[in-house]
Amino acid sequence: MTSWIQDVIDAVYVVAVLVFILGLRAMSAPTTARRGIVFAGAAMLLAVAVTFFSPHLSNFLLIFLGVAIGGLGGWYWARVVKMTAMPQMVAMFNGMGGGSAAAIAAVELLTNVSSPATAGLSMAGAIIGSISIAGSVIAFLKLQGWMRSKPIVLPARQVLNTGVLAVGVAFGGYALLVADTFWLLPFYVLLLLYGLLLTLPIGGADMPVVISLFNALTGIAVGLDGFALVNGPLGDAGYAMVIAGVLVGAAGSLLTYLMAKAMNRSVANVFFSAFGAQEETGAEVRGQLKPIDAADAAVTMAYANQVIIVPGYGMAVAQAQQKVKELADLLESKGVPVKFAIHPVAGRMPGHMNVLLAEAGISYDKLFDRDEINAQFPATDVAFVIGANDVVNPAAHRQGSPLYGMPILDVELAKTVIVNKRGQGKGFAGVENDLFYRDNCRMLYGDAQTAVGQLVSELKKAA
Ligand code: NDP
Repeated sequence: MTSWIQDVIDAVYVVAVLVFILGLRAMSAPTTARRGIVFAGAAMLLAVAVTFFSPHLSNFLLIFLGVAIGGLGGWYWARVVKMTAMPQMVAMFNGMGGGSAAAIAAVELLTNVSSPATAGLSMAGAIIGSISIAGSVIAFLKLQGWMRSKPIVLPARQVLNTGVLAVGVAFGGYALLVADTFWLLPFYVLLLLYGLLLTLPIGGADMPVVISLFNALTGIAVGLDGFALVNGPLGDAGYAMVIAGVLVGAAGSLLTYLMAKAMNRSVANVFFSAFGAQEETGAEVRGQLKPIDAADAAVTMAYANQVIIVPGYGMAVAQAQQKVKELADLLESKGVPVKFAIHPVAGRMPGHMNVLLAEAGISYDKLFDRDEINAQFPATDVAFVIGANDVVNPAAHRQGSPLYGMPILDVELAKTVIVNKRGQGKGFAGVENDLFYRDNCRMLYGDAQTAVGQLVSELKKAA
């Protein structure tokens, strides 16, 4: 009786895993991404639901309570979250995955250290999961604006961090050695502290690398827990966790690599150098800000040989993507080619601009990444920057700047640069941007949705 139920459960896990893989594949293109999310969600639901039929499961009341609290909370927050707060919610949900992995590892360490291998895997899951949740909390606070985005650097940071990690791990080892679970408490406290200390010195501009790495770590922690579970009574659920964890870990690692490459930094450099902590040196802002009104900006664009639009975080805040699409369509109807220059870290989450522009129905073949588009700026009449700042900041070319070394979109090489932003706010990295003061730059002030809307009206009037 028990064995055939187990066989069916195993078969359903295999189906769930296949659907996970299909979901991940679908997520790799904007047109199918929505379907990918539905697939992945359905696979997770299936895997969780079928586990309830396991003959080894008990404690149903507690499990239902956990699922109800987590499920309802997740459903509610996902419904009410504003699109602009999505990055911090993703960071937090991601951290929750790490926290869950650390909690599962705790259960394993408390009840199922049947072999040194199980103990080692659970220990590794606990360490990585704890660092991931604590680090994600800091990422959440920085993205939410509740903590300053500049690096927070404590004295003797490296010694302090290494010490906290080493003592924490030693407590864990001791707990296993003397078989006294009390010592797991300081083990977890110190590892959570280490996750906080590791993330505090990371500056705003490096947050994309951090978010992606914690995503990868969460996957790895879940995978390690899965390996440990395989040896216990719920063994087959462990296989499902291993595969789901490996998928997340692999996708997250690749994303981390791409984000680090986009910043021209190594992951180790992001985590251990407190880059950007220094105050800006050699920053010189010359000239003055020169405003332009919507009517003049519209004329400049209407007579351009080409307009390259550079969207950034401000476009996301203003939810201006539909207006931007209208603007692009209008210009093209007047014979002005329009291209979009997408910086990989523009916005506040990987792929942020691609998602918004795809949502507005802007064709993917109009989107160009930095390497493809940079050579075109010198031959372009108008670069139109909408709510972007750090990703077009020439300070990145200057030694001594907290942005030094980050590859940027070279908009300043266009004949005219029109920048839309609300006022004199700095970018996420908090660095002054002298692009705005250059001779060929004009400032179109206002909320992106309103300002781009005005451009659309002006262009329509001129039609
Ligand atoms: P920035 O954050 O550098 O700049 C955004 C600009 O938009 C601000 O200067 C602001 O100026 C303006 N703005 C804000 N609201 C509006 C609005 N409603 N209408 C018009 N303009 C507005 O954005 P970028 O996209 O250039 O750079 C992203 C930064 O975020 C990088 O430093 C990146 O490393 C970091 N980051 C990226 C993540 C990712 O995964 N993509 C994750 C975490 C951080 P003003 O106030 O004057 O309007």
